[in-house]
Amino acid sequence: MRDDLVLSVRDLSVTVHSDDGPAKILDHVNLELRRGEIMGVAGESGCGKSTLIRSILGILPHGAHSVTGEIQFCGENLLSMPQRRLEREIRGAAIGFIPQDPYLALNPVFTVGDQLLEILRWHGMPGESSDRRYTRSVRARHRERIIELLDAVQVPDARNALDRYPHEFSGGQRQRLLIAGAIACQPQIILADEPTTALDVTTQLQILKLLKELAARFDVSMLLVTHDFGVIGQLSDRVTIMYAGQTAEYGPTGEIINDPRHPYTQMLIRCHPDRSDELIGIPGQVPVPVSPPSGCRFHPRCPAALDICSAARPPLLYGEADRQAVACVLYSEIVS
Ligand code: SF4
Repeated sequence: MRDDLVLSVRDLSVTVHSDDGPAKILDHVNLELRRGEIMGVAGESGCGKSTLIRSILGILPHGAHSVTGEIQFCGENLLSMPQRRLEREIRGAAIGFIPQDPYLALNPVFTVGDQLLEILRWHGMPGESSDRRYTRSVRARHRERIIELLDAVQVPDARNALDRYPHEFSGGQRQRLLIAGAIACQPQIILADEPTTALDVTTQLQILKLLKELAARFDVSMLLVTHDFGVIGQLSDRVTIMYAGQTAEYGPTGEIINDPRHPYTQMLIRCHPDRSDELIGIPGQVPVPVSPPSGCRFHPRCPAALDICSAARPPLLYGEADRQAVACVLYSEIVS
């Protein structure tokens, strides 16, 4: 793995065994996250974005899937890491997670303090020995760390917030609590799964600003899953577009937004309300993973489809060094 990368996903495929047969939710997905960057992952619902996040966290439903490929994190393949190490050292510690819905993610019967302290009790504070006993002084130290974090994410009256219950906070404040939990152990990566979808527009903007500030302040890389190109444009350095479990296109955010190449990316961007006076959608639906179309999976919906598009899957073709890459026959002249 290159030194500038913190995460490298190689040829990742995830198959779920359903009643209708095997469903390939992810099909040879590749993705690279550099140190300190924010990578957006965009696509319609059902394109495999959340499955990608769950694969990295190792929380796919037990026994219901087969996973092939590699997920290299700081030089180690997470797919072959023992579960206990994954639970203790990686998930929630070296890799933080911000879920989609702050109303569901916090347990209503425990105080905010109990829930956030549990993270430090389980993983330990950065630099703390793993065989520590959970004494009063350790708990007091953890409590101070949580108060610092709540201040960092701008939760009002942080010290007293610890003794309050989730229902006493607004949606935006709950998302701030979850962000504090995600950064508690000084992660190297944060995986954010549509972190603003459940919030109103004004609060969304505040949370996006906060995420950007925290990523820079704590020097953390971020994988940001969203279907909203407004969010991508404001936050991410690069973006990966996924369609039906495959990578359709990726590159620097500015280039993808201003000069999208893949017909799916072009249509996805045109759907954003800021880009058009009319409400525009993409005709048709994302195919079910049990029986995806042959060749390019987008061909039944693609206005530019050629006869050859249904014959073979187009490879991901790269432009000049490290710029845009696109999986579409219309760009087959791009040198690989
Ligand atoms: Fe459209 Fe063909 Fe390109 Fe697929 S490969 S996006 S069907 S033109």
